[in-house]
Amino acid sequence: MSDRQFLNYIDGAWVPGSGSDPIADLNPADLRKVIGYCTDSTADDVDAAVEAGKKAFAAWRATPAPVRGRICRDAARLFEERTEEIGRVLTMEEGKVLAEAKGEVLKGAVLVEWFAGEARRLNGETVPSEIPNTFAYTTRQPLGVVGLITPWNFPMAIPAWKIAPALVAGNTVVIKGAEQTPWVTELVVKTFVDAGVPPGVLNMVQGRGATAGARLVAHPDVHAISFTGSTEIGEMIYAQGAALGKRVQCELGGKNPIIVLDDADVGMAVAAAAKGGFGSTGQRCTATSRSIVQRGVLDEFVSKMADAARAVVPGDGLDPATTMGPSVDSDQFGKVHEYLQIGKDEGAEVVVGGSRASDGELGHGLFTQPTLWMVDRSMRVAREEIFGPVMSVVPVDSFDEAIEVANAVDYGLTSSIYTQDVNTVFQYVDRIETGMLHVNSPTIGGEAQLPFGGIKKTGIGPREMGTQAIDFFCEWKVVYIDYGGGMRGGNLY
Ligand code: ADP
Repeated sequence: MSDRQFLNYIDGAWVPGSGSDPIADLNPADLRKVIGYCTDSTADDVDAAVEAGKKAFAAWRATPAPVRGRICRDAARLFEERTEEIGRVLTMEEGKVLAEAKGEVLKGAVLVEWFAGEARRLNGETVPSEIPNTFAYTTRQPLGVVGLITPWNFPMAIPAWKIAPALVAGNTVVIKGAEQTPWVTELVVKTFVDAGVPPGVLNMVQGRGATAGARLVAHPDVHAISFTGSTEIGEMIYAQGAALGKRVQCELGGKNPIIVLDDADVGMAVAAAAKGGFGSTGQRCTATSRSIVQRGVLDEFVSKMADAARAVVPGDGLDPATTMGPSVDSDQFGKVHEYLQIGKDEGAEVVVGGSRASDGELGHGLFTQPTLWMVDRSMRVAREEIFGPVMSVVPVDSFDEAIEVANAVDYGLTSSIYTQDVNTVFQYVDRIETGMLHVNSPTIGGEAQLPFGGIKKTGIGPREMGTQAIDFFCEWKVVYIDYGGGMRGGNLY
């Protein structure tokens, strides 16, 4: 039991929100454990944070980009030093096992480190002009105050990979983290601040999406919104942002497939499907939720996958024996179990799991048995995002059918294929409708220096990570300098 309060950070001060309905922060592995309370912010708090960002913008914009980068470099080092501390909090709030939580913090540190280096490469271009005695070049400038809205499933890495490029590009930031993970968001912001981010440059508003988040999107002085979360909210934010002329970047849902062909190394494919399907309790946007398996290896795949599912040990992520944590909160848990019922009603054939895991201490938490079932491609559970430890196996006769099934969903984040045939690999690269794809490796993961994101209903706007991420937070300016010393005569257009 704790009455710890998670506050806002505005203009260099930790302050409570002005709302009166704080949100209980519960440990999903044991709902009796109250971690603390997330302050309830209103539109007024968001307005104060944006005001602080506006005030700090001129000085931050004038700070040389490499100096901004050095602060991010120091933040990366601090994140590394704080891996254990932030990792433990992450496990308590979000539920993922400690090794995954520490892995997330280290990944976030690498991302921040990479963006720090990009601060020295905020290059423009010099371009030959068609007009005599004219020097033409491009330069990049920050947008102003930008808004970041982040989810609970990677509560350290996602804020870190949005904050770093926004700051490196010279913007000031207001972040609204997820209400389920306020402590981790606080630790992320605190780490940037400890690394030297000046007051007003990075502000944080905790609280609900419908109040604090919505005001951030609607605020006339917030020039861009970078959002990661559900498709439903993302599409709404995109429409609202567009109507206000804002730049919007959304990273939304997924229904990522692994294709396993007859010539695959089935053992490797099963290891990848188990890691992608049950790892992080299936709560990754890159989680594997469909195994599209050619019939020649179907029996072997299902039998080995069933063994992998049975080997999973659900439990409190701080217990070293645990290999899979709970759903993050009751809403998410309810959604997973609604889908388990929908699947059963549709005729999905459960091979392993399919119910709540509630033996002994597990009964106090939001645990689900890792589930493996055989489904038909037309079922809702084969097409809609579940975000839980549920692996749907769809049998197919051929590579062509596998591609057809893989692409027959609204989403397109990531995918993977297991085959030894080079021709098939290149056809897959050409035909698969996902923003990222893997050959003979799991659907999960993404490196700092490469863009991250999807197509179709998964992604709106430019990609995150990689150099593309910086681009989202910059305005390009084109400069023509006439050094002829007289009236220009040659411009025909
Ligand atoms: P999830 O299912 O991952 O919780 P959401 O899309 O509901 O996904 O939440 C992701 C983030 O978006 C959270 O920080 C949440 O508070 C915020 N959010 C939710 N609703 C809105 C909204 N109407 N406007 C702005 N932000 C919102």
